[in-house]
Amino acid sequence: MFKRIITLLFLTAFICCGCGKKEEIPVANDLNDIIKRDNIVVGIKTDTYPFGFYDQKGHIVGYDAALAKLIARGIVGSEKKVKFVPVTASDRIMKLYSGDIDMIIATMSVTPQRKEILDFSNAYYVAGQALLVRSNSKITSLKDLNKKQAIIVFGSTSERSLRSAVPYVQIRGYKTYPDAFRALKEGKADAIVSDDTILLGLALKDKSVKLLPKRYTKEPYAVAFRKGPESKDLIRAVNQVIEIETKNGNLKKLQKNFGIK
Ligand code: GLU
Repeated sequence: MFKRIITLLFLTAFICCGCGKKEEIPVANDLNDIIKRDNIVVGIKTDTYPFGFYDQKGHIVGYDAALAKLIARGIVGSEKKVKFVPVTASDRIMKLYSGDIDMIIATMSVTPQRKEILDFSNAYYVAGQALLVRSNSKITSLKDLNKKQAIIVFGSTSERSLRSAVPYVQIRGYKTYPDAFRALKEGKADAIVSDDTILLGLALKDKSVKLLPKRYTKEPYAVAFRKGPESKDLIRAVNQVIEIETKNGNLKKLQKNFGIK
């Protein structure tokens, strides 16, 4: 009996302190929690050059990472007080709602469907969907993909736009952008449909592929938060940083440095 009580107490304590969770960082529900914890935890891409990727030293860098540092400086006073948690297009929303991260800064476009489940900051960059094809390809536009194979990355906006623009396209999904790029180069499909800046990043210095000139959508990138009133102050603080860093020209400078404007 005594043994059973001890086991029960131990189990209750284990569940209550959330010891089963991998992260020791306490979940921040709002701006006050973040200020108390004294850092921000950001979901960031590592497969999406030049927005989020690993540099040679193994640090996560890129335009989104740089913006995250500016937000940390604005909210908790130092660019160093940011922790990056790698996310992909398909797991970023799940990681936000599981409390692993405070916000997503990961080439994430604002769309009406996403606004149903997420809150967004103001846009900090605008991309547009385009096609990446092999350089000897006869494909010149989205319509040419009818009854052909097109590559998308799971969880990204291109699947929806592709299906509505080209009803008979066959879609092949991949988990990461490098996987998608490899598949295109290996001839597994006729094109990748994604944001121009991401495609340009993949195609850089690779003459075996070309980015077609037409843009099919506007993709406003914004910081994403859990939907609800507790995100309001945090969004206001992030918007303030975006506004300041736009006005003082820092975001433009970063865009130039990362070759995206
Ligand atoms: N901006 C698009 C999106 O939010 C594509 C880039 C991405 O996969 O994150 O889905």
